[in-house]
Amino acid sequence: MSDYYGFAGTNLYIDLSTGKIKKEPLDQQLLQSYVGGMGIASRMLYDLLSPDTDPFAPENTIIFATGPLIGTFAPAAARVYTLAKSPMSGLLGTTNGGHSVGIMLKYSGYDNLIISGRAERPVYLKVFDDDIELRDACHLWGKDTWQTIDLLRKEHGTCSVSCIGPAGENLVRFANIINDKRSSSNKTGLGAVMGSKNLKAIVSRGTKGVEVADRKRFQKLVDEILAHIAASSLTMVWRQYGTAAKGSKGTGFDREEFRQRVYKRYYACQACPIACKSLISLQGGNYDGLTFNISALNSLAGHHDIARVENWDELAKCVELENRYGVDGAAMAAVVNLMAQLSENGIITAADTGGLTLTWGGETIQKLIPLITYKEGIGALLAEGAKGAAEKIGMGAEKYANHMKGVPREPTPSSIFTTTVLGRATNPRGGHGDRAVSPFDLKGVTPEYLKEYSLGIGVPEGALDRVLRGPGGYNVPRLTKWVEDFNSVLLSMGICIRDPILKEMNLETLTALYETATGITTTPAALQNAGERIWNLQKVFNILHGWTRKDDLPNTWSPDVPIVIGDVSYGTFNQILDEYYDERGWDVKTGIPPAKKLTEVGLGELAGDIS
Ligand code: SF4
Repeated sequence: MSDYYGFAGTNLYIDLSTGKIKKEPLDQQLLQSYVGGMGIASRMLYDLLSPDTDPFAPENTIIFATGPLIGTFAPAAARVYTLAKSPMSGLLGTTNGGHSVGIMLKYSGYDNLIISGRAERPVYLKVFDDDIELRDACHLWGKDTWQTIDLLRKEHGTCSVSCIGPAGENLVRFANIINDKRSSSNKTGLGAVMGSKNLKAIVSRGTKGVEVADRKRFQKLVDEILAHIAASSLTMVWRQYGTAAKGSKGTGFDREEFRQRVYKRYYACQACPIACKSLISLQGGNYDGLTFNISALNSLAGHHDIARVENWDELAKCVELENRYGVDGAAMAAVVNLMAQLSENGIITAADTGGLTLTWGGETIQKLIPLITYKEGIGALLAEGAKGAAEKIGMGAEKYANHMKGVPREPTPSSIFTTTVLGRATNPRGGHGDRAVSPFDLKGVTPEYLKEYSLGIGVPEGALDRVLRGPGGYNVPRLTKWVEDFNSVLLSMGICIRDPILKEMNLETLTALYETATGITTTPAALQNAGERIWNLQKVFNILHGWTRKDDLPNTWSPDVPIVIGDVSYGTFNQILDEYYDERGWDVKTGIPPAKKLTEVGLGELAGDIS
């Protein structure tokens, strides 16, 4: 029986070089300061990695981190965070995945799984409660992710499997991790970090459960949140259309066509009442009968907008191949985007690509996936990702590579400018707006709701005037700071950030969930401060590992040309960034947190590291 509530209370350390397996109690100081999950793991990596650690060196450490609410029945508390130094950015790599992996690790008795070193031969890690073992994976090496999961389940019965495909084995910099054939941990290339360690998979099955401190109050809170989520029209939209909820009418991605012709039924990560994921099955067309659980149809944005994939059938085939080979779809789309533009501008020709015509669309993606995975021909270059490939090509190719900090995709100022869009630039992991997603992105939010939400996530009364002033009723850069801090708390607890959840969460609710689950007393202000601490910690990590202000600037368009959408001007990107840094209390010119700020958020001891 654990002495902990909410948390399992134990970290599990695996050294693949020596085969040593060690358990240690969860550090109370870290627990108090960094909420859990992503927050705690960020601090562990900060302490473990030196700035000159190569992402593919044995010293790089990969952590699978569960938050305190994972394994309880808190709604949508199913997201396990994976962190390591990223082979795409050279900075802090983070990704989160769902389905059952976090819960199985937690039920086995572990909050964090910390893996370092490099095995001599391919291995996989078995974590079944106290039965922990490194097992030979030579028979799995070379298998795709779906084959790997099937083989491991045949051997071990019902269990959670997180694994890499051949792309991860071959150190493709944008390789991903596939969980249970139902969820993908994309972005930042952490599948390649597993590959560099000769670690093919983690299988887990736990039976210990998780105790909450005050079952009665916790249950009441959960029931109230569930009732709101069930009554929300947003929930039904996400359940019916999955991440295609924002499908684009008039393109080959009409969401009604998706519903009628492609969609079969919804499914969910464990403990989630939203169920935004879809089993799809194509009827007719080139891929008739193709059936699988598609985790993230928001690859629609990446594939359609970036690579010009034209319809659901093409998209489904691309995602199937990406999942099986184990490559991040958004990064694949960025590679095609780069090569198509370089061809159009005469920077590369068929003579440079081994005779291949690399143009827009799904066919190019499908053609390139095996070449990139096995680093054949032009694939060896493109396995570096859009940024890395463009740098090697030279001749001005860099300005066509769509990325932030090496990770696709850039903030796009063409149709909408919100916290999520700016968040793609400011996110420590680069290229993705997840940490700044807010209901402000939804259409039709009223000024009253804007105020209520802002106060709920910790914007002080005195700051409302500056934060809620601007186009659409708010100042994007100033509000982004507060949303990022709030989402850092939410994600560190293990909760998903889909719209229907975000609409139900504020610091009061999180405080109540945290206290009743863990028995640890906290306050909304303390949690807000912890979110800001996590953000600043990740920033300092990045600075130490080479970040400079230019890494927060867009790559393919000028940061000094005003962003105008419709008849609204948001100023230049440089001005927006200045304002964001100002709201964060960072040096406006460099974007570096001063010692005063670090002390304010409880990180004063790190100031010397970056001075
Ligand atoms: S909303 Fe979707 S991604 Fe999030 S926990 Fe639920 S099913 Fe998983």
